[in-house]
Amino acid sequence: MGHPVIDLHIHVGNKNMIKPFVWKWVEEFMEAGNGLDRVANSEGELDPAALEAFLEECGIDYGVCLAELSPITTGMTSNEHVAEFCLGRHRLVPFANVNPYLVTRPEEELRYCLDALGMKGVKLYPSYQHFYPNDRRLYRFYQLAEERGILVMSHTGSSIFPGARMRFSDPIYWDDVAVDFPELKIALVHSGRGFWYEKASFLAQLHTNVYLEIAGLPPKNLLQYIPRLEDLSSKVLFGSDWPGSPTPKRNIQAIRELPINEQSKSDILGGNASRLLHLG
Ligand SMILES: [Zn+2]
Repeated sequence: MGHPVIDLHIHVGNKNMIKPFVWKWVEEFMEAGNGLDRVANSEGELDPAALEAFLEECGIDYGVCLAELSPITTGMTSNEHVAEFCLGRHRLVPFANVNPYLVTRPEEELRYCLDALGMKGVKLYPSYQHFYPNDRRLYRFYQLAEERGILVMSHTGSSIFPGARMRFSDPIYWDDVAVDFPELKIALVHSGRGFWYEKASFLAQLHTNVYLEIAGLPPKNLLQYIPRLEDLSSKVLFGSDWPGSPTPKRNIQAIRELPINEQSKSDILGGNASRLLHLG
């Protein structure tokens, strides 16, 4: 058959790790059927085996599980927690977070996450942690990520959570990084959601290693947000933003129903990500 289906964007923080209003928002989605009730127990602790079973049922071969160290906005899901959560789970791929305000040498934190914790990539949260992606403090970090060939994902565009500041999530700052680190693989998470879709799409078109990630975007509107979706399909990556979205199964189905060719759909749903993450 074709490519694996890969969900690049799954949050695995327990209730006691994330801010109460974030959990409440997620629980409200649960009523819309996001499946969290099957993955988390009554204490709000997520079970990795239950998540794997849920992903399998959704037709997802691999799910990227994200750490997040955003004490001033959404909460703290540590790298250690995510690494442990994914340990021995072939479907779950652990991604680190490095918050440049919490460490003095971001590159050393990344090295620790990759080498000691066995994590496979990294996601940044500029608007939740209030830094610009082209900050020179991160240049050694990008250099290491480029050398290791790992994917650097970064939130771009809007967020509904109080304290997030949009100016830090303007995709334009990734132009500097892409120019200075031409081999670095960069995914613009949410594709510049809000009023920057065009900017994000242009960067993906311009730079060989800049990708668009579509988590949190209703798939049926994708062609509205990214009119050149089919032309850019080798640069587009599927993510669900679970549990902050309805069931990923529905999103996958909606992508399969888009009026674009089958090869493009298969690339978006996992073909591109399988190359970036070296998954078969
Ligand atoms: Zn997310």
